[in-house]
Formats: sequence, structure tokens, C-alpha cells
Amino acid sequence: MSRKPALRHSYSSALFDLNVSVLQDSTLITMQVNSAHVTTRRLPKTTALLKLHCPTVLKTKCFNEENLPFRKEVRDTEIGHLFEHMLLDFLCKEAIAAGANEALYKGNTSWDWNVAARGSFEITISLGMEEEKLLKKALPKAIAVTETILSSGTAADRSMKTPQVTSKNSLGGHVHKPALAALVHPVKMKRPDNF
Ligand SMILES: [Zn+2]
Repeated sequence: MSRKPALRHSYSSALFDLNVSVLQDSTLITMQVNSAHVTTRRLPKTTALLKLHCPTVLKTKCFNEENLPFRKEVRDTEIGHLFEHMLLDFLCKEAIAAGANEALYKGNTSWDWNVAARGSFEITISLGMEEEKLLKKALPKAIAVTETILSSGTAADRSMKTPQVTSKNSLGGHVHKPALAALVHPVKMKRPDNF
């Protein structure tokens, strides 16, 4: 196989770690959320913070089991899934800023906390090596907003353990069956006429 070696990036903080491998035609990201908040369920400022820092993400499409629009889904969703949506949204903005008339990136996020650590996510993005420079610009922006959202919980919240995704009724209307959940979506953006 004459596959080019992956380009790697990593990020580590008290709240989450990322390992990013940019392959020929796709980008694989493993995320480990270290915060007690592995979902937005107890982060009620999430929507307000997104309106402030990344408002277009609320309009991105989401194909989830319950067919909820992302602006509703975001009130109680896994941090890895939110991060993926923001990264796709920032990638579209970077592509358009770099001169593209239209941008389309697809992503999916999966997790299985029966097998892997709680708070771990596998994220795949349809961005290959040729566009790595867009990723380098979008990644820090998605990281910064994720840090802001995870920091928005109170100190009491942060020390509180959130329920496991697999326990009964743990996530209200957002229970995934089976434990492995995967959310797939394209994010598309058009250059505004007045850009
Ligand atoms: Zn989604």
C-alpha cells in the first residue's frame, strides 16, 4: 500500500483531549472528555454561548434517531457530537473565506462507553490532506468554543457525576440503542451574496 502517512495534531487540557489524524481522504479524531460533563444536559448556557460564538452551528443538519433539529438536540447532546458539528461549521466558513463558492463537509460521531472509556468519542470528518490548512484554522476555533461551554457549568456541577449513557433513563429522551451510537451529517454552506 502506498498510503501517505497521516498528519497528526493533538490537544490536551483539563477538560478534554484530542488526537487528530489527517489521512489522504478523511480525518479521524479521538476525543476524551475529562470534564464530569460528557453531555450538554447540565450546561444550560450552551445555546446562549453558541449564539454568541458560533451561531450558524444551530442551523446545521443532524440525522439523529429522534429527528430533532440540531438547535433542539444541542440542549442535551454528547460533547463529542457538539464538537463535531462546530468543527464542520468552522471548516465551511474557512473554505468560503479561502475563496470557495460553496463548502460541504460530512462528519459522524460514535461512542460506545460499554467498551471504551466514558466520555470518549470517535469522530470522522470528510476532509483530506489537501485541505489540512483549513483544519488548522478551524480546529482551534472549535476547541475554544468547546472549552467555553464546558467551563460554563458551576463548580458544583463540575464535581457532579453525570449518569452513564447505558443506565436506565439516564438521558431522558435521548437513549441510544444499542449502546453504540453514531450520528452522521453533512454541513453545507453557500457563500453569501454580499461576502
Ligand atoms: Zn448531529
